[in-house]
Amino acid sequence: MTELERKQERSPVPKDWTYAPAPEARDIVSLRERYGHFIGGEWIEPAETYTTISPADEEPLAEVGQATPEEVAAAVTAARDAFENGWSEISPAERAKYLFRIARVLQERSREFAVLESLNGGKPIKESRDVDLPLSAAHFFYYAGWADKLEYAFPNRRPRPLGVAGQIIPWNFPLLMLAWKIAPALAAGNTVVLKPAETTPLSALLFCDVVRQAELPAGVVNIVTGDGRTGVEIVKSDDVDKVAFTGSTEVGKAIQRELAGSGKKLTLELGGKAANIIFDDAALDQAVEGIINGIYFNQGHVCCAGSRLLVQESIYEPVVEKLKRRLTTLRVGDPLDKNTDVGAINSKQQLEKIEELVSAGAEEGAEIYQPPCRLPEKGYWFAPTVFTNVAQSYRIAQEEIFGPVLSILTFRTPEEAVEKANNTPYGLSAGVWTEKGSRILWMAERLRAGVVWANTYNRFDPSSPFGGYKESGFGREGGRHGLEPYLQFDGSEPFGG
Ligand code: NDP
Repeated sequence: MTELERKQERSPVPKDWTYAPAPEARDIVSLRERYGHFIGGEWIEPAETYTTISPADEEPLAEVGQATPEEVAAAVTAARDAFENGWSEISPAERAKYLFRIARVLQERSREFAVLESLNGGKPIKESRDVDLPLSAAHFFYYAGWADKLEYAFPNRRPRPLGVAGQIIPWNFPLLMLAWKIAPALAAGNTVVLKPAETTPLSALLFCDVVRQAELPAGVVNIVTGDGRTGVEIVKSDDVDKVAFTGSTEVGKAIQRELAGSGKKLTLELGGKAANIIFDDAALDQAVEGIINGIYFNQGHVCCAGSRLLVQESIYEPVVEKLKRRLTTLRVGDPLDKNTDVGAINSKQQLEKIEELVSAGAEEGAEIYQPPCRLPEKGYWFAPTVFTNVAQSYRIAQEEIFGPVLSILTFRTPEEAVEKANNTPYGLSAGVWTEKGSRILWMAERLRAGVVWANTYNRFDPSSPFGGYKESGFGREGGRHGLEPYLQFDGSEPFGG
């Protein structure tokens, strides 16, 4: 028998070449049965609790606290004490050390965090492992670097911390949004009270362990869990100096109304309905990957998702054909499987919202395409979806769906592309695909969006400011701009309040 024959006998040619299951082990995460609130460096037994689940199979994961007004007040008091009794006085270089430590611990424990993030939120492990965790650590590293250089970031302005920051984050990137909020706040010398979203509290609770490991002084970071009522208490608290919110436009507006005239600083990072614009000279295969990444990344639970695809009319047919073909190769299923591209929808409520808007799209006259795929029976699932034949007035072209649903429209000229792209109450992000640099610049000048990606999509970097126009909110996170909302200055403020 030849060597080749022996090999073939040992490992015959497979009958098909589909992926075998490749589940990530869960045992790296040890969950407690019950979590309290993390206040003043201690776990406080909660008065009320609720059950947090895995959206992939509805399995209960743990009991977590539903913070009462008294518990929120205790967290704010702990943050105030920590601010006044040490943290605001500590040398900036010392502050930096704590942030570097947190970043290092996040890196060391990244697999544990990635598994937990996928378990509690439903996102594919390859995304939590390769995007959420590295970017969360990168945020702490980045702001650690600024902590002792604020005088250089804002020369001659005497930057000083504000005090206590109340931070409310959503469920789509639980740990990453925590990093976006906590890292600049601490680097600027503030203390924080943070509330994770009701459906995804576990990575924020595990982060408390990181805070302890980094030996951060007690009370500098306080985490309270609960639903919107807990958020309301944080916003209302008289002893909070600044509120930072990421979430829906509706709640953002309510918070703005509540804070009007209070003198508290506010930043809002709200929804989006981004246009991803493909010109006829774009590298089409690359653009199709960009479209897929733009809308199916994180099940489309992304405020800057490229949910409106604008395709130049002359290439409409090949783009749609390539896109549909690519859709059939997306693997939908177990978030903990390393081969999964599209995981579970984050909650029943979000699934119902997606279903409602998709029905509206079909009723209004758009044509729906979903690739053949078998969805798991338990849990919350929605197949990747494309709508063609979409008019600008349809709800699916106007409203944020926040799910794996793409609406395709066409345009003929760059002017028309700009007009259609800007025809939205939002203004968070946009994508432009073309081989001409001059066209990219011409478009970027005219698109009313906080971020414009060129020949790529959904790229994030801690040094790059992120934020919106119009109903997408105000204020910037990331970069030097992201420090400014957490500081007060002598004289007028450099980038607006
Ligand atoms: P919300 O805006 O309700 O949630 C964001 C955060 O705010 C959560 O922590 C939430 O708590 C809290 N919250 C809710 N109500 C209040 C309140 N009155 N005052 C203070 N805090 C409050 O978003 P949803 O989770 O309800 O999602 C609804 C829609 O919002 C989605 O379908 C999507 O379109 C959009 N969205 C946009 C996001 C973005 O990144 N821009 C992120 C998430 C959602 P709790 O979790 O308990 O509700």
